[in-house]
Amino acid sequence: TDPALIRNFCIIAHIDHGKSTLADRMLQLTGVVEQRQMRAQYLDRMDIERERGITIKSQAVRMPWEHDGTAHVLNMIDTPGHVDFTYEVSRSLAACEGCVLLVDAAQGIEAQTLANLYLAMENDLTIIPVLNKIDLPAAQPEKFAAELAHLIGCDPGDVLRVSAKTGEGVETLLDEVVRQVPAPVGVADAPARAMIFDSVYDAYRGVVTYVKVVDGRLGKRERIQMMSTGATHELLEIGVNSPEMTPADGLAVGEVGYLITGVKDVRQSKVGDTVTQQRNGATEPLGGYKDPKPMVFSGLYPIDGSEYPALRDALEKLQLNDAALVYEPETSAALGFGFRVGFLGLLHLEVIRERLEREFGLDLIATAPNVVYQVTMEDRSEHTVTNPSEFPTGKIDEVREPVVRATLIAPSEFIGAIMELCQTRRGSMQGMDYLSEDRVELRYTLPLAEIVFDFFDALKSKTRGYASLDYEPVGEEAAALVKVDILLHGDKVDAFSAIVHKDKAYAYGVKMAAKLRELIPRQQFEVPIQAAIGSRVIARETVRAIRKDVLSKCYGGDISRKRKLLEKQKEGKKRMKMVGRVEVPQEAFIAALSSD
Ligand code: GDP
Ligand code: MG
Repeated sequence: TDPALIRNFCIIAHIDHGKSTLADRMLQLTGVVEQRQMRAQYLDRMDIERERGITIKSQAVRMPWEHDGTAHVLNMIDTPGHVDFTYEVSRSLAACEGCVLLVDAAQGIEAQTLANLYLAMENDLTIIPVLNKIDLPAAQPEKFAAELAHLIGCDPGDVLRVSAKTGEGVETLLDEVVRQVPAPVGVADAPARAMIFDSVYDAYRGVVTYVKVVDGRLGKRERIQMMSTGATHELLEIGVNSPEMTPADGLAVGEVGYLITGVKDVRQSKVGDTVTQQRNGATEPLGGYKDPKPMVFSGLYPIDGSEYPALRDALEKLQLNDAALVYEPETSAALGFGFRVGFLGLLHLEVIRERLEREFGLDLIATAPNVVYQVTMEDRSEHTVTNPSEFPTGKIDEVREPVVRATLIAPSEFIGAIMELCQTRRGSMQGMDYLSEDRVELRYTLPLAEIVFDFFDALKSKTRGYASLDYEPVGEEAAALVKVDILLHGDKVDAFSAIVHKDKAYAYGVKMAAKLRELIPRQQFEVPIQAAIGSRVIARETVRAIRKDVLSKCYGGDISRKRKLLEKQKEGKKRMKMVGRVEVPQEAFIAALSSD
């Protein structure tokens, strides 16, 4: 196809503003999906996506569209909507020349709209502002058209109005995409350079890699090279999604499609990497490649220790389709054998946990998530800490933690509540803007560690559900962080070690000690529970000793009853873990680790 007739665009929207429904309508109107095959959210393929109404993985679909009597090709690239996948979103956006900024006409701009809009602006995309759901009685198109126009600096009259549900305005929108979005530009006779913006594992076909060809042409059966690693592969198949995979002879400048090379692991076909030919290939990769970097770590343990090999196999399988998932074996005195797993963020963690439990039938216990700390010692040695129990001992010069830039949007009556919340989470305010008379955008930098626990829940409850939040990592900062250990009868319980700000260490110690006192059964002897920073005890509780043991009751009683009791006691011990001399039922650890 002549690049002048191609338009590559994406839709950015806050969750539930109607992105998938609009995509469905476009598929229908352009005729790539027939009416009778249509089912809601055609492109959201994964079960979890459907149930949670979020898009995790992006897809690209090619649609024909006639405008002014000329046949055009529209490539719609569906970006993952969630903050955890910021890097993938930014690569999907980099494959486009324009975007549809979709806003619910009854809700207005939300945090995810803005976060994605900023990414679109960084990628110099042409932005087409659109209000959706104008069929709703509660829609306020005038108000929110003004909001959108103010935000991107256009005339309120330029804001399109559609209903993805009824299809009203969607044809006009497709025409505007052709009119407003620039055609891709590239050098046709240069060595091929194609950017990978998605990479998906398929059980039958191996990895399917989605690319946009920037320069040159990639052809069927050619040998290609991944520029970040130098690895070469044969191109077994090349084609486009329309919406099912359709093989082609090749992809040229500006085209978007898929490649199949037979590799079995998405880490061999990385998002952001540049593909070229092996012979006379390009020498300079396209910009913007980054290795995925896990931001949040958690220990995952099977509740039943015999499921450890099954957990390992399951993680291996998931990793085939998820270049950002990393894990290594870990042993915990409290929880047994498991894995320390790295995630892009909390949603990523939840999705993986859910898949392990649902698709692989595993019962898991997860330790509290923690971020990655960089520790510089006084002797200048550096440590990367992904597990609090491995925090270095000795003379520490500085501890650095990841920080994020957060965007919060809410009705202005909640400004006070949000500022208070961010304050208690060690946030610092970067700015505030009114989007309209009664809605405001607040920008904060916050330590990621303060967000991964229950920030979102706290925000929702303080704003009666009206606030929205989005964030992206912006580097690391030094902070006064300490490690708090929990000791049972003098022995450290690794699963409860935490790295916390020194002003919060005491509260954490008191809370955990009290929680454990409730959960740990009495023993033959008194069990002190302590919270300590190094050798300094900051909180203490005691589990009192039981007065009599089970056998004393049957002193002199008949032997068979005594044996039965002993057996019963043994039975109960199976699910017990020993921490030093103390027996703790595994349930107690599970209960203590789960948040309140
Ligand atoms: P997404 O999260 O942005 O992909 O949003 P969805 O497409 O899943 O839509 C969220 C909800 O809004 C669904 O219940 C849709 O049926 C509904 N919806 C989407 N577009 C419209 C519309 O134009 N009008 C009305 N009334 N509802 C819509
Ligand atoms: Mg969706």
